[in-house]
Amino acid sequence: MYQLNEKIRDLKPYDPIQGSYRVRLDANESFLPLPPAILEEAQALLSTIDFNRYPDPAAGELCAAFAACYGVSPELVVAGNGSDELITVLFEAFLQKGDAFATVEPDFSMYAFNGHLHEARHVPLQKDPDFRLDIDKLTETCQNEGVKLLIFSNPCNPTSLVCPREDLRRLISALPDTLVVLDEAYMDFSDQSMLPEVERYDNLIILRTCSKAFGMAALRLGFAVCQKPLADALRAVKSPYNVNSLSQAVGAAVLRHQEELQAARKTILASCRELRAGLERQARQYPGRFTLLPGETNFAALSMPDGEALLRFLRERGVAIRYTGGLVRITCGTPEENRILLTELEAYWNRERT
Ligand SMILES: *Cc1c(COP(=O)(O)O)cnc(C)c1O
Repeated sequence: MYQLNEKIRDLKPYDPIQGSYRVRLDANESFLPLPPAILEEAQALLSTIDFNRYPDPAAGELCAAFAACYGVSPELVVAGNGSDELITVLFEAFLQKGDAFATVEPDFSMYAFNGHLHEARHVPLQKDPDFRLDIDKLTETCQNEGVKLLIFSNPCNPTSLVCPREDLRRLISALPDTLVVLDEAYMDFSDQSMLPEVERYDNLIILRTCSKAFGMAALRLGFAVCQKPLADALRAVKSPYNVNSLSQAVGAAVLRHQEELQAARKTILASCRELRAGLERQARQYPGRFTLLPGETNFAALSMPDGEALLRFLRERGVAIRYTGGLVRITCGTPEENRILLTELEAYWNRERT
C-alpha cells in the first residue's frame, strides 16, 4: 500500500475561516471593492487577452507598472502568483536540504511551513515579551547558527509592529552571508520600507503584495525586489507561467491608477484609526482585559489571555477574526463592520463580568 512520506503525512491544507459571517475581519484583505472606473477598464481588458496563448513568463508589463509605482528599476522586480508563491520559490532557490533558516516568532506561518517542505533546518527565535525585534540577538543567532536565510514580516503579521529602517540597515549589514528577506506585505500602511535602498545590499530581498492595501487578493499578485543576480535566480527557479495573463493585465492596469490606489489606502488607514480608537476606549473602560499593540498595518493586534474564547464568542455572533501566535488579530473594515465588531466586543467584556 502506498505510504505518504513523513514530511507530508501530517500536513493539513491551509484552512481559512469558512462559512457565512456577517462581518469578515479575519484575513487582512481590503474591505474596498475596485472603483467602478477601474472595474470597467478591467472588463475591457478581458477581450484583449489571447486566451489560447501562454502568459508572458517575465510579466514584463506588470513588473514595469509595479516598478513605476515605487520608483525601482523593473529588472529588479519578479512577479509571483501572490507573494505566497514567491516565499516558496525563495526557499527552493536559496536553501539546500539541511540549510538553516531563521524566523522570529510569532510571524507569518508560511515561512516555517515552506522551510519544513524544503527540509531546511528551522531556527525559530522568540520575540521579546513586548513583541519587538531584538536586532543584536537576531544577528548573533544568525551568525552562530550559520543561518542561510532569515525571513520576517515588517510590519509584522500578527503583531502589527514595524521595525525601523535604521535597525534593518544594521541587521542586513551585519549578516553579509545571510540572505535577509523582508516581507513588506503591510508596508503601504507604514513608512519604513527598504525598497528605496534595495540596490545597496546584495543579500536583501523585499516582498510586496497587491492583496492588502491594493485590494486585489483575488488576482494573486506579489512581487520580489532585489539585486539582479538574486532576481535572475528567482526567475530561473519559478515556474515559467506562474502569473496568468488576466492577473498580469488587470494588475498592471490597476497599478497605473495611482490616484485611486492612494485614495483607497487613505480610506483603509482612516478605518484602522477608527477601529483603534474604539479599541483604546475599551482598553481604558475594561482595564486588564487586553493590550492593543501600537501597530502600523490594516489590522489591530490585541495581546490578551484566552483569545480563543473571544474568537468563539464572536464567531457565534457572525463576526470572524483571527487568533494567531497568541494575539487576537482584527482587520479593519467598513465603518459599519467596525461598529459591529466593537459592539460585540463590548458585549464580551460585559458577559465576562457577570
Ligand atoms: C497576506 C500576507 C502575505 C500573502 O500575500 P499574497 O500576496 O496574497 O500571497 C504574505 N506575507 C504576509 C506577512 C501576509 O500577511
